[in-house]
Amino acid sequence: MSLDLIVKGGTLPDGRNADIGIAGGRITAIEPKIESEAGRVVDATGNLVAPPFVDPHFHMDATLSYGIPRINASGTLLEGIALWGELKPLLTHEAVRERALAYCDWAVSMGLLAIRTHVDTCDDRLLAVEALLDVKKSVAPYIDLQLVAFPQDGFYRDPTARENTIRALDMGVDVVGGIPHFERTMADGRRSVTELCEIAAERGLMVDMHCDETDDPQSRHIEQLAYETQRLGLQGRVAGSHLTSMHSMDNYYVSKLLPLIAEAEVSAIPNPLINIVIQGRHDTYPKRRGQTRVPEMLKAGIRVGFGQDCVLDPWYPLGTADMLDVAFMGLHVAQMTSPADMAQCFRMVTETNAAIMGLDHLGIEVGKTASLVVLEAGNPVEALRLRANRLCVIAKGKVVAERSSSAAKLDLPGRPKTVDRRHRLQN
Ligand SMILES: [Zn+2]
Repeated sequence: MSLDLIVKGGTLPDGRNADIGIAGGRITAIEPKIESEAGRVVDATGNLVAPPFVDPHFHMDATLSYGIPRINASGTLLEGIALWGELKPLLTHEAVRERALAYCDWAVSMGLLAIRTHVDTCDDRLLAVEALLDVKKSVAPYIDLQLVAFPQDGFYRDPTARENTIRALDMGVDVVGGIPHFERTMADGRRSVTELCEIAAERGLMVDMHCDETDDPQSRHIEQLAYETQRLGLQGRVAGSHLTSMHSMDNYYVSKLLPLIAEAEVSAIPNPLINIVIQGRHDTYPKRRGQTRVPEMLKAGIRVGFGQDCVLDPWYPLGTADMLDVAFMGLHVAQMTSPADMAQCFRMVTETNAAIMGLDHLGIEVGKTASLVVLEAGNPVEALRLRANRLCVIAKGKVVAERSSSAAKLDLPGRPKTVDRRHRLQN
């Protein structure tokens, strides 16, 4: 049988060396040596061949808007939300679409081939919703884009948010979002979790809420989210994003909370780059990190991914669509530096994030969609250390991005002519 593509000689994340055969957009063979004819051969010898990066938490309606109409001077979440409020009336369909498509180009170049983006539904025009539904269609041949209806200004706090969020779902937005900690009272926040979960249950949709994105140890909407998930039979379809208040909660309470989250099969999506810069802003010293309790949740059997959240927008002045940056920051803040923990962090931004989004078709297995990335690294931990070059990105069976090696030429007396920062551990 003739193949469309063979990826030859790469190392898989589990350490196996294998050739990968691709035909009709699917992986058709994973074997030590594939000898068939192929339309194209990608030589991955000595490099890591991994499933694509997946980002389960992003804001594509705001991305690449940094500085419009001004920058966030305090760096806080609340000024970011206020600034986004100033920018919103200035948005046009075309501008949102163009920025989102530009971001998707960056994503593809970094091997990031599935993204869940929240889209603000607190705008009577629902202009960003329309623009991102458009973008979703345009990028479908290479990116799985999932949209979350996100009532950014509060499902109850904003006078038309409820109605507009439901309209957005009617228009085809995939996931139900929320922001309970931004409602006027704790009770309203709790009520919003209940109603939004009921809407998702009625429509058979997934839920992903910004939940307890605060340093307030009393912000406990995750408890309600776990409760509603169980009550409504939504197990495995619900995610709590951020959960930063858990960083500041009392240990005794957390010891009760984690098993409840695990039982309800609610996933957690911390966003390390953003949590580390936004949380703790009201502290002097010691200053809280604000990232949720990642190792403890993993130990409790909770599915935890890592999201990127923001790139060049009212909340974050940096970012490059690189999920290795996200995992790199996440493992530092969570102090997950053992080899096994670091390998897990790599899986979190690939396999786990895909599972959170319900994307069963991704992964390196025969029969799955042929979306892969060739990284200039020997293994996942080295990929993290180097934030490795993406040498070749394959989306749905087609090479969509390529780059050459990052080895630098050297001109030093008595030293080699090139330098390559790859490093084999000696034992
Ligand atoms: Zn967010």
